Amino acid sequence: MPELPEVETVRRGLQPAMEGAMIREVRLNRADLRFPFPPGLAARITGATVTGITRRAKYLLWHIDTGDTLIAHLGMSGSWRVSSTEADDTPGRFHHSRNAARAHDHLEIMLQRGAENILVTYNDPRRFGFVLIERTAALAAHPLIAGIGMEPLGNAFDGDALFAAFAGRRTSLKAALLDQKLIAGIGNIYACEALFAARLHPEMPVDRLARADGTKSAKADALAAAVRDVLARAIEAGGSTLRDHRQADGELGYFQHSFSVYGREGEACARASCDGVVKRVVQNGRSSFFCPSCQTKGGRLRTPKAVNAG
Ligand SMILES: [Zn+2]
Repeated sequence: MPELPEVETVRRGLQPAMEGAMIREVRLNRADLRFPFPPGLAARITGATVTGITRRAKYLLWHIDTGDTLIAHLGMSGSWRVSSTEADDTPGRFHHSRNAARAHDHLEIMLQRGAENILVTYNDPRRFGFVLIERTAALAAHPLIAGIGMEPLGNAFDGDALFAAFAGRRTSLKAALLDQKLIAGIGNIYACEALFAARLHPEMPVDRLARADGTKSAKADALAAAVRDVLARAIEAGGSTLRDHRQADGELGYFQHSFSVYGREGEACARASCDGVVKRVVQNGRSSFFCPSCQTKGGRLRTPKAVNAG
């Protein structure tokens, strides 16, 4: 399942290829993906110009000058590739392909910008991805978009915003980070990595982000900064790997090699100053990886009674 950094990397790859280009032709090679393609989709967008590509959580949003927006999701195995229509087999400037089998090319969009012809292809072997369309003015109320939490890469996201969003929750930090209604687009991998970077235990109760008087502690600032930093570094790594491997048809490898705790059960802690060993626990059916030596469960001392009871 692609996480937010991969979706953002795809957005940054598609944007220069598609922005300002006119949609000349749309080919749907089957009737549905996870959902049926919207009726009349090809006719509705043919002739329109792409005015911008943005992202909300893990949804790619293609805004076109007819006042419509395409909502695209990569599902489990979806990928987009950009190529020139003149040289079909030559990879283009952006190549986010996991599967080169043409049988899984479900949607092909031919675009034109000046003398430049651009082919954008959606490939998805497992077909959990989808493309929908909505009036841009109604986008915020769309069932998939309405109720999504704040963007962790947005300007408004900081320790204060995180603390306010988590206030009153009676869950663990890990569960709160994964709650898409609070913060959008953080998946299991980056929740684990951010907690490690902030030195906070995944099972720490959310209310321990507050000081004894109920105000925000430095832990909330540290966690927000860690979320931003972990996502930003993953996007950087993804971007550079895509550039390095743009002529390869293989799987994207960037999210396999730069983790501090995720998938590293039993390995030494990545902090040189720490002699801890990475542990795995299951929380709400998802694996949490953490270092029990340097990730704290919170600064407040338990009462002696609670310690004895445990
Ligand atoms: Zn450690």
